[in-house]
Amino acid sequence: MNQVDDKLLPILDEVLRRNAGEAEFHQAVREVLESLGRVVAKHPHYLDHALIERICEPERQIIFRIPWVDDQGQVRMNRGFRVQFNSALGPYKGGMRFHPSVNVGIIKFLGFEQTFKNALSGMPIGGGKGGSDFDPKGRSDAEIMRFCQSFMTEMFRHLGEYTDVPAGDIGVGGREIGFLFGQYKRLTNRYEAGVLTGKALAYGGSRARTEATGYGNTYFVQSMLGTRGTDFDGKKVVVSGSGNVAIYTIEKVQSFGGKVIACSDSSGYVVDENGIDLALLKEIKNVRRERMSHYAKRRGDGAHFIASDKGSVWDVPCDVAMPSATQNELSGKDARKLIENGVMAVGEGANMPSTPEAVRAFQEAGVLFAPGKAANAGGVATSALEMQQNASRDSWTFAQTEARLAAIMRDIHDTCHDTAEEYGAPGNYVLGANIAGFVRVAEAMRMLGVI
Ligand code: NDP
Repeated sequence: MNQVDDKLLPILDEVLRRNAGEAEFHQAVREVLESLGRVVAKHPHYLDHALIERICEPERQIIFRIPWVDDQGQVRMNRGFRVQFNSALGPYKGGMRFHPSVNVGIIKFLGFEQTFKNALSGMPIGGGKGGSDFDPKGRSDAEIMRFCQSFMTEMFRHLGEYTDVPAGDIGVGGREIGFLFGQYKRLTNRYEAGVLTGKALAYGGSRARTEATGYGNTYFVQSMLGTRGTDFDGKKVVVSGSGNVAIYTIEKVQSFGGKVIACSDSSGYVVDENGIDLALLKEIKNVRRERMSHYAKRRGDGAHFIASDKGSVWDVPCDVAMPSATQNELSGKDARKLIENGVMAVGEGANMPSTPEAVRAFQEAGVLFAPGKAANAGGVATSALEMQQNASRDSWTFAQTEARLAAIMRDIHDTCHDTAEEYGAPGNYVLGANIAGFVRVAEAMRMLGVI
């Protein structure tokens, strides 16, 4: 079992005390600290100047009120967050999540993870995350617009292309980014394209950004399978979720010859032994904004829907599992089921979707396991490419942008792989990702002095 080194335990204790009740943040910090024992044994200077303590403390946390008016004329109120975690490597960068479960602990965990992920991407970006406990489900376009405008009316003063550059996450896609950018432009009287990423092509977006997280995870898993002399061709794959990350994971896996036989949303999952019909899934999720059961109804024979209280998508036997919905969606029990059914590789498209117990089970069983902070970094890396295009007032082709994404994912894979070997844990991508990300941030922080 992984443990936090004695020298790092007081740091963890202080994080737990100072951030009481923030379970997801505790989980994320503990996982990184578990990996750092080997680093401080080799390089004890990282224990100086409270460097690790400072890495675990956000530089700034903003919490604010978001009043808005619904279609019936009633005033509603939500809470907004932006956690500007670490800017040692560049402006804060990370998405915004609109989901009723959002609280400061979740945003803090996401911002912490983002800091190391962004470092791993090799791009000049710091880490941040934000969002709101607003529930977009069932809201009209007009309500979404008024909410986004109210959100940005507070947020704009904290943002800027050299300060903090948000993007999408759960519940925030192209439609929301458009409304947010429109309000930012109106309030600042500046066409500052690089202040948000995930924009549509019509006003400064990058080709391949929409696809980048799912494609990137697929590239990462392809490299990982390569270390065992195999690839996606002919493999059965299960992808959880059916949002942005899931859809483009399915698209890329299919193009690599894999067969995706199940996907899900929060209401349940579909099993489609003929392989998911992606055009139908996109229509149901992106156009009609319907629930998963509609997929099975429209698809007919060969596809069936199972409600979430009747089973888990991880019960479906597969060679490769790609969790792409949300944190802690894959439990120890789910992991044991996947292992029993012969899973060979797991690539996390979502942030921290596997519980610590699940991660341990995969590692003990010798399953190739790619942690989200490495495997889903293609999204933010392509956001950084969007910022590059905005800064140079240029627009690259899809092929050019995807080639950069593929090269970045190969580099992240190799960095994690080689770092794990260097620190005496070959094949442990969790350790490799945590150490490589940490060292990049820590080195920059050391040079910048005590700030
Ligand atoms: P979307 O909102 O597009 O899709 C989220 C999907 O996950 C939906 O199918 C949703 O189902 C499901 N889901 C969300 N919450 C839950 C829950 N509590 N239980 C079960 N299912 C749930 O989000 P994204 O695809 O953008 O994000 C998915 C994950 O990937 C998140 O962890 C995010 O942080 C991570 N990520 C996203 C990046 C991006 O570029 N978008 C970049 C890096 C990571 P339903 O509609 O029923 O709620």
